[in-house]
Amino acid sequence: MQPEVPPQAVRESGMVSKALGEVLVRVQNVAAHAAVSRPVRLVAVSKTKPVEMLQEAYDAGQRVFGENYVQELLEKAPQLPGDISWHFIGHLQSNKAKAIVKSIPNLQAVETVDSVKLANLLDKAVTEAEWQRKLNIFVQVNTSGEESKFGVDPADVLSLARHVHTECPGLTLSGLMTIGMPDYTSRPENFECLNNCRSTVAEELGIPAQDLELSMGMSGDFEQAIEMGSTNVRVGSTIFGARNYSNK
Ligand SMILES: *Cc1c(COP(=O)(O)O)cnc(C)c1O
Repeated sequence: MQPEVPPQAVRESGMVSKALGEVLVRVQNVAAHAAVSRPVRLVAVSKTKPVEMLQEAYDAGQRVFGENYVQELLEKAPQLPGDISWHFIGHLQSNKAKAIVKSIPNLQAVETVDSVKLANLLDKAVTEAEWQRKLNIFVQVNTSGEESKFGVDPADVLSLARHVHTECPGLTLSGLMTIGMPDYTSRPENFECLNNCRSTVAEELGIPAQDLELSMGMSGDFEQAIEMGSTNVRVGSTIFGARNYSNK
């Protein structure tokens, strides 16, 4: 007997590249008018979607993909071209830090670092893997004040950012990231909070603010996020179609 698998929306051939193109136009249109200091990076969030759909986006020129689950990333990455930049955007358990670095040489960024312990494990893994480059790190900030397990409190961002910046030679502090909680919808206050956190980190660590990225904005709010300074938007369902079960 085949196991029951929830029906998964799979876009017809051609749909992904079309949707991707439309999202890119929207990103560029907003970015052109917003005061962003660097090109906005589109992370195509491909969780739960089959590699064929990722390949279609790749063939259309997309190179940055985001995945939420370690196991899924470990399965998909080897089936896809090696010049993809993978962003890990899900909750990363400490005991998976080593595996993800060791197995994915083209892991570009972990956007969800929320503890010194995790930063240290990633740093150690990069050193052990003898990478000739650093792993980009976003400190995940809980900007909504919800009782959420994930993301550090705005008050604690500076100390973690400082740790990554000064104590972890294998890591680059790329910037800060937030997810709207609990329904994944961000409000302007969340984006503003992330901006404020960046100002503090930049000032205290002596880094120009424009050198610290903001990862915020998803399908429902990426244009607003760019207007409010996002340089890294994470867009899934608008490109790849709805996910049929709750797997935010
Ligand atoms: C799933 C997910 C996204 C993409 O969400 P969409 O609403 O499908 O664009 C972005 N960021 C994170 C952290 C996610 O888990």
